[in-house]
Amino acid sequence: MDADTAVIGLGAMGSMAAWQLARAGASVIGFEQYGLAHDRGASGGESRLFRMAYHEGSAYVPLLRGARELWRELAELSGLPLLLPTGCLSIGLPDIPPMRNVRASVEEHGLDHEYLAPDELAARFPQHRAADGEIGILDVQGAVLRPELAVLAANQQARRHGARLLERTRVDSVRFEDDRVRIGAGGTEYAVRTVVLAAGPWSASLVPPLDGHLTVRPLVLTWFAPGDAGRYAPERFPAFIRDTDGVHLFGVPMVDGMSVKTGFADAWGDIAGPTAFTRDFDESRLWPVTEAVRRFLPGLHPDPIRYSVYLDAYTSDRTAMVGGLPGTDRAVLLAGFSGHGFKMAPVFGRIAADLALERGTGYDIGAFAPSRFIPR
Ligand SMILES: Cc1cc2nc3c(=O)[nH]c(=O)nc-3n(C[C@H](O)[C@H](O)[C@H](O)COP(=O)(O)OP(=O)(O)OC[C@H]3O[C@@H](n4cnc5c(N)ncnc54)[C@H](O)[C@@H]3O)c2cc1C
Repeated sequence: MDADTAVIGLGAMGSMAAWQLARAGASVIGFEQYGLAHDRGASGGESRLFRMAYHEGSAYVPLLRGARELWRELAELSGLPLLLPTGCLSIGLPDIPPMRNVRASVEEHGLDHEYLAPDELAARFPQHRAADGEIGILDVQGAVLRPELAVLAANQQARRHGARLLERTRVDSVRFEDDRVRIGAGGTEYAVRTVVLAAGPWSASLVPPLDGHLTVRPLVLTWFAPGDAGRYAPERFPAFIRDTDGVHLFGVPMVDGMSVKTGFADAWGDIAGPTAFTRDFDESRLWPVTEAVRRFLPGLHPDPIRYSVYLDAYTSDRTAMVGGLPGTDRAVLLAGFSGHGFKMAPVFGRIAADLALERGTGYDIGAFAPSRFIPR
């Protein structure tokens, strides 16, 4: 055998899995088709939101707690500023599902938070123009993550524990046999006991049964210059996420010393797959985000100073696939993080390592079962 476990794809999920596998004592071989921390997949763009009070449901909170501990540990081990404690402000009408979920998260799990009634929201965070009746919930443990640094840090830790990580080495084939998995990459065949499949937007080309169950979606990030820089410094302007009249906008304070980053979800449709992806994004298509910034963040100059495009893989229920790949007991699948997986990458990496090495995990991952899409 060339290793106990192979990890295919060293983006957010694969690099965290490689770290957790190697630190648990497994011999690991990892494959990445590009260089580490590249900007063509789901894990580029300088910053990511970390939220504990979760729009997508309070059931995520135990995973988020686990992730937060691992983020802190990785920051300490690497000496890199991976998690910037900015807090995260959710804005919306109190009865919309995301805000109800935020409220359930803080109440059921006793999370540190501040509830801001409409007048308090306006007085405390005048940078945001709220609609009538909108409230704010400040998630005190919310933060900004540094994705490229995090991917590098996790891979560095994996290597420190002996992992062999091959960059610019594309996996072309994965074959399951009774006692091993054969992996073809860069003209060489490798044999391992188990494999973690973490190919992000490329997952369906690697795992054909996923075809039709994952859609690939471009996400555009935009950076806007503030009129008054002091008002958007991380101490005064937390990361934020809001849902107003069908607009889903999120953003990061001025962590680069000159601009506020925003992201606007679901405005650009799906593409046929990563091969159909072009970085030449027509600037005229940015209008949904510039309109949203003009409307909701009036203190920012409404033309972005720059923008760039990334990809993520979505499932139809926007819940990831994390668990054994149906049909074999030699593969763990990490796929379909649907625009909100980065913050949980370390804990999903831990779960993948537990499943690959121990065949079980202490986390409740029933909701993520790949078998809900791929028949056993
Ligand atoms: C613009 C944007 C903003 C986002 N904002 C947030 C946020 O604020 N908070 C949050 O929690 N989440 C956020 N997300 C979601 C999160 O970033 C993604 O869900 C997460 O990064 C997915 O990681 P991944 O490892 O699955 O994919 P990737 O990071 O794309 O990794 C997959 C890797 O596999 C490699 N690969 C694929 N096929 C092969 C092969 N055959 N051989 C070798 N290597 C291969 C790829 O090159 C790639 O490096 C955002 C996503 C985007 C795109």
